[in-house]
Amino acid sequence: MQKIDMHTHILPERLPNFADKFGYGDFIHLVHEREGFANMMKGNVFFREIAKNCWDPEVRISEYAHFKTRVQVVCTIPVMFSYWAKPADCLDLSMFLNDHLAGIVDDYPENYIALGTIPMQDTDLAIKELERIKSLGFPGIQIGSNVNQQNLSESQFFPIFEACQKLNLAVFIHPWEMMGEADMRKYWLPWLVGMPAETARAAASLIFGGVLERLPELRVCFAHAGGSLIPTIGRLEHGFNCRPDLVAIDNPITPRHYLGKIWVDSATHDPQLFRYILEVMGEDKVCLGSDYPFPLGDLEIGSFIEKLGLSEETMEKIFYKNTIAWLYGH
Ligand SMILES: [Zn+2]
Repeated sequence: MQKIDMHTHILPERLPNFADKFGYGDFIHLVHEREGFANMMKGNVFFREIAKNCWDPEVRISEYAHFKTRVQVVCTIPVMFSYWAKPADCLDLSMFLNDHLAGIVDDYPENYIALGTIPMQDTDLAIKELERIKSLGFPGIQIGSNVNQQNLSESQFFPIFEACQKLNLAVFIHPWEMMGEADMRKYWLPWLVGMPAETARAAASLIFGGVLERLPELRVCFAHAGGSLIPTIGRLEHGFNCRPDLVAIDNPITPRHYLGKIWVDSATHDPQLFRYILEVMGEDKVCLGSDYPFPLGDLEIGSFIEKLGLSEETMEKIFYKNTIAWLYGH
């Protein structure tokens, strides 16, 4: 069965030193000290070590061959979003990353599909880059779960989502700049607890803010199986019903209504939760997504799904049909 992995990250092997170029800021740069590895540095602070499979398209293709997966949807690593930077500089960085992605798709059209990145902190520049992303042939974009701690329901972001709908660009929402991060640095809590909460925050903002209601053709997919969104949908719905004065102020429609209208990836690390998500989202809305090549990802690229005893038809949907429907709208 063919498989598309719709949640994977990639970087160029070499990055310009954007901090030197722009004269400020903790932009990510790469230090290559030993063959096959690089240190991602945030300013002068070590962020994470990455290996060759983070940048080498051929190493990635051969790693994927072990899991019978030919196609990867690639997007940047969220730490590259740089929404905190001056808008024109973030546009410059975004264009660099998008041009790199376009090159990979050109070189390996059978193996890669790209999602672009945009300067969310400036609506006009974001839309300008969206139009260029469309002209590069990308089917969508990846954005963060908040923009400088502003929720995605804020009015300045609406024209960006409206442009995505008009341009037929899919949107992948990935948690980043996790809420509470400064208060819970130990135990990797920003990743383990903050990320699922961030994703729920983004989804709840788009639902309660009426963004999904006003843009019915907008196709949005949430990372990590929607984070805490789906496990807490009962609470969101109950809150909506018992305190409409707080919750139902911008959209009169119950949050559960949107579960069949949004997409999520499959990265649960929990077969029981996966089954539950499949049940409440419907089998047309769950897509194979691994978060490769990072250790928190499902690095056996959905092998657990093959062991669940699902029908061939359902597996085809999860492994590629739903991703095609999310990305292209048909
Ligand atoms: Zn990811």
